[in-house]
Amino acid sequence: MFLSALLTLALGQCGPYTRSRVSDLNPNSPCLRWRENSLLDWRINDQGNPENTGDAEFVAADRALATWQNELTTCGSLTLTAGARTSSRLAQFDKTSGTNQNVVLWRFTRCAQIVPSSDLCWINGNCGNQYDCWEHSAGALALTTTSFEPSTGLILDSDIELNTPGFLFTTVDSPVCVSPNFSVACVATDIQNALTHELGHALGLGHSCLSGSTMSAGTAPGELSKRVLDPGSKLAMCEIYPKGKASTDCAADAGGGAGGGTAGGSGGGSDAGSAGGTGGSGGGAAGGGSAGGGSAGGAGGGAASARGCGCTGGADGALAFALLGILRWVIRRPNPRQGLPE
Ligand SMILES: [Zn+2]
Repeated sequence: MFLSALLTLALGQCGPYTRSRVSDLNPNSPCLRWRENSLLDWRINDQGNPENTGDAEFVAADRALATWQNELTTCGSLTLTAGARTSSRLAQFDKTSGTNQNVVLWRFTRCAQIVPSSDLCWINGNCGNQYDCWEHSAGALALTTTSFEPSTGLILDSDIELNTPGFLFTTVDSPVCVSPNFSVACVATDIQNALTHELGHALGLGHSCLSGSTMSAGTAPGELSKRVLDPGSKLAMCEIYPKGKASTDCAADAGGGAGGGTAGGSGGGSDAGSAGGTGGSGGGAAGGGSAGGGSAGGAGGGAASARGCGCTGGADGALAFALLGILRWVIRRPNPRQGLPE
């Protein structure tokens, strides 16, 4: 914490990292975190992403996991593993299942193309799992859904979906794709780059105000920089998950790098779109998709809050359904598929 405070001083208002909370509307609410010494076994869906050749997408996912594990090995208490590939295509926490998994999966179809607009899944926010499709906004390239205990902030499950109908996912290191020649032989939307960022959300981080951070909002075509952890993200693992100690909650006024400003507004149960970020890079995010509320909490609509760092040009945001104990982060980018026919 002390080092964090020093870095915060050195960096001005922007802390070295930002944590997700149970509710952005309540700065005293618990910060999201896994219980100390947790083993997070990540299961990549066995269908992978067919556009990639061989096992390239699985290798990229393994590398993203290893990037965080390397830091956790140094100073943290969590263990991330890449378990056996899974046939599960469910991005959700199933309280009744003893086989709940942290899944990474690519969606291959937009829900809007196959699910009737009258289907109740749009209201319930479960079209994606029900029809195995991308239910979120077309301009979002990936989304992390984290389920947690609202009273404590302890994370129970996290799942990551990637938007194949919207983006060409690649794994090579160079060169950057140049229009109109987009293919998996050049860098379009790098899988390792995207997954490293999303895994940061899964570990309890929000968006960093520091440009160049692994956890900065938004991304650009050809970006690879988020493959590497910035010092603030590394520090977060040491401070949130100190080796040999309990995972840390965050104080309301300091510590934990609760740096970045958050903006939120409460909403009813049915919420769409989000867009917490500033949208500086334009385009992309057409509200649409995600709907929250209802069901699990039994309390009717959840408190939905949109939030974003508010200090970078990215158009990335999150939806939090506090009463349901679900937090969803999306990362957006203009230029879906970069000119490829959709
Ligand atoms: Zn993000």
